[in-house]
Amino acid sequence: MKLTRRDFLKLCGGTTAGVALLGMLGPESFLEAAPIDIPLRKRIGEKTTICCYCGVGCGVIVASDENGKATNIEGDPDHPINQGALCSKGAALIQVTNNERRVDKVLYRAPYSSDWEEVSWDWAIDKVARNIKKTRDENWTYKDGKGRVVNHTEAIGWDGSAIVNNEEAYLFTKFARSLGITYLEHCARLCHSSTVAALGASFGRGAMTNHWIDIKNSNCIMIIGSNAAENHPLAFKWVIKAMEKGAKLISVDPRFTRTSSRADIYAKMRSGTDVAFIGGMIKYVIEDIEKHPQNYNMTYIEEYTNATLLIDPNFKGPADLDGLFSGYDAGKRAYDRSSWVYQLDDKGIPKRDLSLKDPNCVFQLLKKQFARYDVDTVCSITGTSKDVYLKVCETYAATGKPDKSATIIYAMGTTQHTNAAQMIRSYSVLQLLLGNIGVAGGGINAARGQSNVQGSTDHCVLYHILPGYLKTPNPDDVDLKAYLEHYTPTTSDPLSANWWQNYDKYIISLLKAWYGDTAVASNDFAYEYLPKVDGDHSHIALAEAIENGVVKGLISPGHNTAVSGPNVSLERAGLDKLDWLVVCDLWETETAAHWKRPGVDPSRIGTEVFLLPAKASMEKEGSLTNSGRWSQWRYECCDGPGMARSDLWIVTELIKKMKELYDMEGGEYPAPILNLTCDYGDPPDVHKVAKEINGYDLETGELLPSFTKLKNDGTTSSGNWLYCASYTEDGNMAARRDPTQTPEQANIGLYPNWAWCWPVNRRIIYNRASVDLDGNPFNPDKSVISWHPLREQWEGDVPDGGWPPMSQEGTRLPFIMTSEGRGHIFATGGALKDGPMPEHYEPWESPVDNLLSGTQNDPAVTIWKSLVKGDVSKYPIVATTYRLSEHWNAGQMTRNLPWLVELMPEMFVEVSEELAAEKGIKNGEKVIVESARGKIEAVAVVTKRFTPFSINGKRVHQIGMPWHLGYMGLAKGDSANMLTPNIGDANTTIPEYKAFLCDVKAK
Ligand code: SF4
Repeated sequence: MKLTRRDFLKLCGGTTAGVALLGMLGPESFLEAAPIDIPLRKRIGEKTTICCYCGVGCGVIVASDENGKATNIEGDPDHPINQGALCSKGAALIQVTNNERRVDKVLYRAPYSSDWEEVSWDWAIDKVARNIKKTRDENWTYKDGKGRVVNHTEAIGWDGSAIVNNEEAYLFTKFARSLGITYLEHCARLCHSSTVAALGASFGRGAMTNHWIDIKNSNCIMIIGSNAAENHPLAFKWVIKAMEKGAKLISVDPRFTRTSSRADIYAKMRSGTDVAFIGGMIKYVIEDIEKHPQNYNMTYIEEYTNATLLIDPNFKGPADLDGLFSGYDAGKRAYDRSSWVYQLDDKGIPKRDLSLKDPNCVFQLLKKQFARYDVDTVCSITGTSKDVYLKVCETYAATGKPDKSATIIYAMGTTQHTNAAQMIRSYSVLQLLLGNIGVAGGGINAARGQSNVQGSTDHCVLYHILPGYLKTPNPDDVDLKAYLEHYTPTTSDPLSANWWQNYDKYIISLLKAWYGDTAVASNDFAYEYLPKVDGDHSHIALAEAIENGVVKGLISPGHNTAVSGPNVSLERAGLDKLDWLVVCDLWETETAAHWKRPGVDPSRIGTEVFLLPAKASMEKEGSLTNSGRWSQWRYECCDGPGMARSDLWIVTELIKKMKELYDMEGGEYPAPILNLTCDYGDPPDVHKVAKEINGYDLETGELLPSFTKLKNDGTTSSGNWLYCASYTEDGNMAARRDPTQTPEQANIGLYPNWAWCWPVNRRIIYNRASVDLDGNPFNPDKSVISWHPLREQWEGDVPDGGWPPMSQEGTRLPFIMTSEGRGHIFATGGALKDGPMPEHYEPWESPVDNLLSGTQNDPAVTIWKSLVKGDVSKYPIVATTYRLSEHWNAGQMTRNLPWLVELMPEMFVEVSEELAAEKGIKNGEKVIVESARGKIEAVAVVTKRFTPFSINGKRVHQIGMPWHLGYMGLAKGDSANMLTPNIGDANTTIPEYKAFLCDVKAK
């Protein structure tokens, strides 16, 4: 089927454009429309790719002509997730590749110029490399002020990307580290960094526990902080499938969304009050467990969580300390976390109380803390009506039975708050109490917003971690021995797998992949080449460092920070101060064209800007990892325009040029550059990079089958241990398209032979928690794994650890990545900076006082120098931001596509009828929205989707607006992030985009 504009509009369920459409389209318009006349099989000669937008990872077929031009793009009917359907963005994909607005030349903007000039690739690569070298050499630090070796430069920043392929993200990390860059970030910091921190602290791994198809197995789905029907439409298809079998859908949101319109229960909740909302549910479940233990999976709670474990008697919680935990230092805004630990017996094993009665056991500490979260208090905080709230508690708690499961789906409505990690922790605690982790239809499913945000996070284009979530060394990790002692956990508990005991194998294999024969035991495997990082170098810190002149040059591939950053006017002005800026993109983005933005004079901006034309996803080959951890291979289906090149080509050209310059001219600390492995051919062969990521047995030269084969003696290499098994001697696992399954696998839709899933193709992580102590599934109708006693092996999914069931000798507990093997209701060891259990705090800007304690805001957040706080008397209205189905993130990938722009052409703000009446605002007229950071203009959409909240007797209004707009592209408008505050979560500094104060008035 060749899609025309008319077909496209029909597919998207409407024929009129504009904001008046908002909310009128049901999600089913995306779900069922596509297959009508799409053939059931991929046709010969066509190639497959994966959609470049959200993290659902829909399969796509591209047809092209003899000139390499795409002639048609449609959903892949064989793909198990989307089964041929696409949402409006996916359906418009052909306009990404066939688009006259694409950047097809290498562009250069000289300092103080008001125009781009066309230059050659050779010239640009040479000039960019020389800029990097000059800035690096002039700002190289061998030792810090304390005399500690750091081997880094703070003068160059790297910002991107979550949309490039895994192999490209891996080379970004590798190259940036070889340059000694400390300000290394990408968009995952801004969307899901709190997910990684919270889920890691709870279960051991920071990723979505299940996968999209598995949602069909749920008995109850709670979607909170996400409008999945609009933003992950093809994932929502699996919610509908579950509902068709009787599952209940609960939508918790400040706004009545498309998701709410399909829900059995819609619970209105003020932005930023998730911990209060879930905290009341935790209290409900604890009391119900005590009254009706037969309705809960007590084996799971007692054996698989740390509910029975005893905590240090010096530990005190918010019930005793007015909202704080023991160890708080107000001067430092930080905790001494030494009391947040287990009591150990004389063998060093955590003590337990199987009766759950000891006042220091985790269960009792949880009960004490959440006793304060009674229904009246919770509803006074959240603004939810009591009858609806009790219905939510009752419906969700019913999934505590061993043969029931419920899942939580969330997105940036949760992740972008000052206590976001603790919000996600509250989901984790609830799910552990209900035995919902590791089971089919259960889990915590983080809906990722970008196509490869999971993969780019796994490859750690982030300052604080190395590929596979290894830690970036700090200056006190003076050598490899000190580094390993710091980060390798030990335990004497025979029931704990303590998987991170293998840390040395993973870091040494990484160093072998990066530095080859140079990395040998006698030089600590070139450990000294890794830059040492002290302190916060995350996105907000990077923006401050640019503002303060510390960072002088910025490399920004595939990230439009001039729209996506918090308090973005400040960030845009910061770009003016850079000596040079390199942007790789498909479009002329706001970041590349910051010197053209309204109200500035280019002749006063001295930044030298390079705009390097990048290939789009369907124009290059490589893998990407969707939200459900599926690594999927996409092929080069058509040509890119003009001089466009893949990011893989661009980064390898830069590596080669840097090597050439340092070889010819010398410079500061050249060894990490000169010795960096970069033997991928010319042009670079993406398969060679994928194989390097997987890793080799260096003695035989063979690809390794699994990370269990990695060694600590330098005889193996692996660029990312987590992806070891993704490209083996059996072939490219991510490219597999085999839908066959065993009956047990087919029953829950595991699809183990389709693509590849980390770790080791395990589709549902922590799955050994889905069985009883003898290895029998708690829910035999939806078995994930089961122990076959005669064959003495697990069947079904790849077991999370191959040990036998808990009743047998030599077993291990199911949460193999935590130090003691159990799921963490209480996050020990100081895993999080602001508390071992979640506690409610108000957003940084809030119209009300915290009703639960005298601690108003998260006490461990960093207060940045440039932060401005809005006064409630001037800005009394709560504001939030969100996404639209027709646009995507910072907008450059959708605001340049005519079909999508026709559907959603301009900036708007949703205002309740009550607020509109108070302010004299009419539907469709222009209004001004103002916060302490700035003001924007938007079209008012007066709607019933928002209604005022009653918060402890006070009437509180909330408004909402999309954040995709900017000053470039076909659809232009003010960016919502001109209003948002540059303050972040205590653990990850993800900005608080989702709750801030503002005022709105007619223009
Ligand atoms: S945007 Fe997401 S849901 Fe829509 S087609 Fe692409 S991957 Fe699928």
